[in-house]
Amino acid sequence: MYGKDWLGEFTSEFDEDYYTDVSEKEEFPEKFWQSLGERSKFGLLVSKKNGGSGISFTEFVKNILDMSSKVGTLTYYFVAQNLSAKLFDDYGTQKLKSFLPEVMTGKSKVNLALAEEQSGADALSIRTRATPAENGDYEISGEKYCVTNGKNADYLMVAARTSDSGEKKSHGLTVFVITRKQPDRIKFKELKKMGLNFLPLYSISFDRIIIDRESILGEPDRAWSMLSKTFAADRLALSAMFIGMGNMALSRALDYARKRVVFGREIGANQGIQFPLSKAYVELSASRAYLEHSARMVDGGGIESNRDLPMGVYYHAVRASSSAIDASLQTLGASGYLSGMVEKLFRDIRYYRMGPISEQLALVSIAEKTLGLPGVRE
Ligand SMILES: Cc1cc2nc3c(=O)[nH]c(=O)nc-3n(C[C@H](O)[C@H](O)[C@H](O)COP(=O)(O)OP(=O)(O)OC[C@H]3O[C@@H](n4cnc5c(N)ncnc54)[C@H](O)[C@@H]3O)c2cc1C
Repeated sequence: MYGKDWLGEFTSEFDEDYYTDVSEKEEFPEKFWQSLGERSKFGLLVSKKNGGSGISFTEFVKNILDMSSKVGTLTYYFVAQNLSAKLFDDYGTQKLKSFLPEVMTGKSKVNLALAEEQSGADALSIRTRATPAENGDYEISGEKYCVTNGKNADYLMVAARTSDSGEKKSHGLTVFVITRKQPDRIKFKELKKMGLNFLPLYSISFDRIIIDRESILGEPDRAWSMLSKTFAADRLALSAMFIGMGNMALSRALDYARKRVVFGREIGANQGIQFPLSKAYVELSASRAYLEHSARMVDGGGIESNRDLPMGVYYHAVRASSSAIDASLQTLGASGYLSGMVEKLFRDIRYYRMGPISEQLALVSIAEKTLGLPGVRE
């Protein structure tokens, strides 16, 4: 039913008006989600043997670039669910792999609950703890902060400390996949925010949740290495989304600059308008080249020894996109400031300069791991 050009067909149905509309109404983009699910587009990176499409990372990135230039930040859901499905495929027990059909078709939503209020950007300092209980089970208690989808997630990948860190701070972390089957022991509180209005955000507290060993994702005590690999892919995939968002804003500004006549001529005839838009184009193109080079390294297996690449690409892309969206807003004047697509992109992109990796911590990582400067993180 859905052929090779699925994305062209998809983005004719879900375009910038849809993005603006769900953001304005502060709704989860249910139709968008269901349509991706019906096409099994949440299993693109899952191996064919487990029912996925098994496409290359480069192709995945291309999908994200195309999708995000039409529906902007809504692409986040496409990125996050595909990467979660890949985690289940690569690291899941038999039990977790059995959830893959519902995850790949979007019947179940999966989200990561890592951050905690007190630990902030220092994720290795989380305090949620899982202790051994009867019959080989674990008991988990703790609090998570700013979890996307939170209450609406069917499966939460919860990072917890299972042992003290020992010689390396990154040791002793385990990821458990928690379902909503113990509702009296999980409490959610919705958090208000400045953008990403189609994306509900929650703080969550867990009170002695019982979970079996089959619900552990990856190796107990060694979750950091699994998460770091996923984060590298996540940085690159999100960078593709930032570039698409930047291009979406830029194309709106170009249309306006060509047509809008003030002081008797098109505003696009003024270098004060041209230069920021030309710079935005160059920076977004440079980001894209940096990203595509890195995506090919992922497919070729070379990213492991080049871990600075995802950080560098992320840093460059989020800045290029932010500048492009800002230049677009400036070009559009009052009409850009009024509620609409560019104003929404402007508020959405601001978060990504702080998380999931902040600009500062991307640079800290490059300083420590690539430039060999002293550090304290892991
Ligand atoms: C919209 C949104 C969605 C989110 N979704 C999720 C989710 O799904 N799952 C999840 O687990 N978490 C999620 N988070 C949480 C997010 O990952 C955290 O915000 C992030 O971990 C950073 O923590 P913090 O904001 O408390 O920053 P803080 O740790 O308080 O840091 C504050 C500032 O100080 C800077 N800083 C800290 N240390 C250094 C240093 N050594 N050098 C220089 N600068 C430094 C930081 O970069 C930041 O700019 C989300 C947050 C938001 C706002």
